[in-house]
Amino acid sequence: MSVKVLTIAEQKDGKISNVSYELICVAKKIGGEIMTACLAESADSIAGELAARGGGKVLAVSNPALKYFNDDIYGRVITELIKKYQPQLVIGPATFYGKALLGRLAALNDGAMVSDITALKSEGDVISATRPTYGGNIIADITGEPEKTIFVTVRPKIFDESRDGDGDVVTETIDAALFESKATVKEMVVETGQSVNLAEADIIVSAGRGVRGPENIPLIQKLADALGAALGASRAIVDAGWIAYSHQVGQTGKTVNPKLYFAIGISGAIQHLVGMQTSKTIVAINRDKDAPIFNIASYGIVGDLFEIVPALTAKFEAGS
Ligand SMILES: Cc1cc2nc3c(=O)[nH]c(=O)nc-3n(C[C@H](O)[C@H](O)[C@H](O)COP(=O)(O)OP(=O)(O)OC[C@H]3O[C@@H](n4cnc5c(N)ncnc54)[C@H](O)[C@@H]3O)c2cc1C
Repeated sequence: MSVKVLTIAEQKDGKISNVSYELICVAKKIGGEIMTACLAESADSIAGELAARGGGKVLAVSNPALKYFNDDIYGRVITELIKKYQPQLVIGPATFYGKALLGRLAALNDGAMVSDITALKSEGDVISATRPTYGGNIIADITGEPEKTIFVTVRPKIFDESRDGDGDVVTETIDAALFESKATVKEMVVETGQSVNLAEADIIVSAGRGVRGPENIPLIQKLADALGAALGASRAIVDAGWIAYSHQVGQTGKTVNPKLYFAIGISGAIQHLVGMQTSKTIVAINRDKDAPIFNIASYGIVGDLFEIVPALTAKFEAGS
């Protein structure tokens, strides 16, 4: 049986986020009929990019109310698409937006929800998802009931981006009443200094309590800038008010999976590790040779970060 799969593309400021192409890659692996929901203020102009990269039937919904993500409106509009196209599997990103939206969609459609998955497979009409649980100590395989639509959020950076494939844009007309909500998002304010999204970053440079105070965050930011990286943080320095919560990596922050992760002045508490231990390469800088972070580091540098970080920054700025 061919599975009908609907991926939910994510856009910001009218630009498709790269994670949307990772969702298409997951849908291709399932091997069924692929559809992609593209909601935006002006969706037709960006839906073509999804179609060109294998998004299948790209369902373009345009409305001024879709300019900013609003889970109430997005939830109702996508539910209309689900009723019309009857997918067995709905795939969204495990990002800030996807986490808010997919749980709501599962509830609205009486479906089954599996969050933050790292693998997905289908055998006949049985779909199974794999997700790390209990802080990554258990890898759970979760199988859906065939009669229920399964909603999954996919951990960013696990799958490659789909580069090409079949696709057509279908312009959808949705009842105007569905674009009304009691909640209105009036504007999105981008936090200064957070130019790269942590969940999507290929390189993350994270600071911990070893940096001693907020006056030293620019030292770490400089290294991040030299590498074109996003700036991450341990909870200790978020709680201390040295940096905003949006930078926090870990159990109560963001789960990240970059190609390269620098842990600078971070001890390696389990609550931090669960948010970053799947990074492809981990570089730890710590003056304590017994710090737990070295147990998972690919490369460890034992020493004073105030000497090592400027030296590394200078090297990277020089391009060597
Ligand atoms: C329910 C719960 C949820 C939590 N969620 C999170 C979470 O999401 N993310 C998170 O990060 N934490 C989380 N924590 C907190 C976590 O337990 C740790 O307290 C925190 O991660 C420690 O942060 P840190 O490594 O920056 O600080 P510390 O543990 O104080 O480590 C600082 C490190 O810096 C090193 N250092 C000091 N000076 C230098 C120097 N000059 N050069 C080099 N190294 C130096 C020290 O050797 C030390 O290893 C959570 C805790 C709980 C209970």
